[in-house]
Amino acid sequence: MDASSPSGTEWFFLLHAATRPAGFQDIRVYGRDGISDARLVWKVCHECERGVISKISLSPEVQRQGLGTRLVDRALLDGPGYRWTTSSQSPDGRAFFRAMTARTGAEFAAGARTCEHILESRPGRHKPILDRRLHRIRR
Ligand SMILES: [Zn+2]
Repeated sequence: MDASSPSGTEWFFLLHAATRPAGFQDIRVYGRDGISDARLVWKVCHECERGVISKISLSPEVQRQGLGTRLVDRALLDGPGYRWTTSSQSPDGRAFFRAMTARTGAEFAAGARTCEHILESRPGRHKPILDRRLHRIRR
């Protein structure tokens, strides 16, 4: 297990898994101090092979440490080769997703239309568990 950032901070990735198909998946990242450093929300429809990054936010102290990249990589594990879009993007978000497109080949079109299952999914989530996939990814 290697959940460390380059600066040596240890992170815990807590996943609230979706309770239904195309539902909200939500990972919150916590440092040892118990303060939430980042959050990723995404949805995947296996029927239509589509995914959407609904939200990604990082507190300023943890930016530029590769954490955003790790989170998006994690979402892509749920739908490799699927058509990925995002919600609307801030200027920083546009630069970030351009780099992620160059890196992964996923499109990440901002605000693009997605499938009816993703559009119609409602909130609902399981209790958090440590995300096994992020705690296994090594850099
Ligand atoms: Zn669908």
